Amino acid sequence: MATATPTNRRGQEASAWRTAQRQFDQAADLIDLEPELRCVLREVQREFTCHFPVRMDDGRVEVFTGYRVQHNIHRGPAKGGIRYHPEVSLDEVKALAMWMTWKCAVVDIPFGGAKGGVVVDPRRLSLQELERLTRRFATEIGVLIGPERDIPAPDVNTDARVMAWIMDTVSMHTGYSVPATVTGKPVEVGGSLGRVEATGRGVAICALAAMQHLGMRPHAVRVAVQGFGNVGSVSARLLEEMGCSIVAVSDEYGGIHNPKGLPVRRLIEHREREGRLGGFPGGEEIPPDGPLTVDCDLLVPAALGNQLTSRNASEVRARLIVEGANGPTTPEADEILRDRGVFLVPDILANAGGVTVSYFEWVQDLQSFFWSEHEVNQKLRAIMQRAFQQVLATSQERHLSMRMAAYVQAVQRVAAATRERGLYPC
Ligand code: GLU
Repeated sequence: MATATPTNRRGQEASAWRTAQRQFDQAADLIDLEPELRCVLREVQREFTCHFPVRMDDGRVEVFTGYRVQHNIHRGPAKGGIRYHPEVSLDEVKALAMWMTWKCAVVDIPFGGAKGGVVVDPRRLSLQELERLTRRFATEIGVLIGPERDIPAPDVNTDARVMAWIMDTVSMHTGYSVPATVTGKPVEVGGSLGRVEATGRGVAICALAAMQHLGMRPHAVRVAVQGFGNVGSVSARLLEEMGCSIVAVSDEYGGIHNPKGLPVRRLIEHREREGRLGGFPGGEEIPPDGPLTVDCDLLVPAALGNQLTSRNASEVRARLIVEGANGPTTPEADEILRDRGVFLVPDILANAGGVTVSYFEWVQDLQSFFWSEHEVNQKLRAIMQRAFQQVLATSQERHLSMRMAAYVQAVQRVAAATRERGLYPC
């Protein structure tokens, strides 16, 4: 066959599932994983697709497509968010589910990996339509989810309110309140203090640990953040509090760059008021992918997947990357960045703060005993720092990138559980 055209090369580079499997294969090679376990772990265990009707405000019925995938449940119940996005696909949800398995294993919390998604642009729905869609989707995946089985959480374009609707729908069907059905709920209905900020807080904790390792002083670090949703905005605010200067930020419409630094709280207020970062006074406007290649020391990609690719990886100026998003870097870009000596803290470690506090929320719900925010943040910091140091030690001992070191740890833990449990039936 002739060589791939640039278009289909890009298409392949953009397949999240292909990326996830390639990363797993590399890790499996490194730990010499036995073929039996390899073929189990490189597939997802369950994939569920549903097409469901929703009554729109104008009386029409629209049919939406949704997915819930469970990659592995050997270390505990399946765990992972639900995203609403027009480009959600089964390919992507499978990859995200697999990454959740490794993420939970890297920070050593007793969950397996899952992910869900609905193909929808939530911005074109009214609040009532969004609620009807959510409640119907919750009913469709009701055959899979539950506190001992599979526990959803927020992800791209879903939040505490969406989680409250899912929890309420499941509780209505059960006949009593089942708060541990989902995490990331409002605190009024069993959510955990500190959960909203947890992913961004984990990113900032990892960034600080990486800066210390590299001998970078936070006060001398210029940061660029792509994505200004929950993860990007909280990471930016906490990094600013640590003394870093935030020089570029962006959302899906565009971004702002100022080499002298941007005031994060005012950016957050502006975005809340205007619905976008664009138009913020005090910086030059840049495109949504602008932060990826501006002059900075630390880059936090906290938007969607497949942002750092073979097309732009050689233009990255940062010396440190901390992945707030899931799957922001393609394997091709990974290689380029590694060759250029960029220190990269991978998604399955860097953004594990969210699921870690989800674990705390689930534990609190099951016991109906709630912790203070200080307690939550302290326990989160302890888990993230321990995981970072373990991954760093593996990377140094085995001369691996941080991504492969995190994979090696995670796959070893999951493989050990799978091995101990044995094959059923034998
Ligand atoms: N959606 C978040 C993630 O990708 C959180 C998942 C969870 O808390 O279950 O890690």
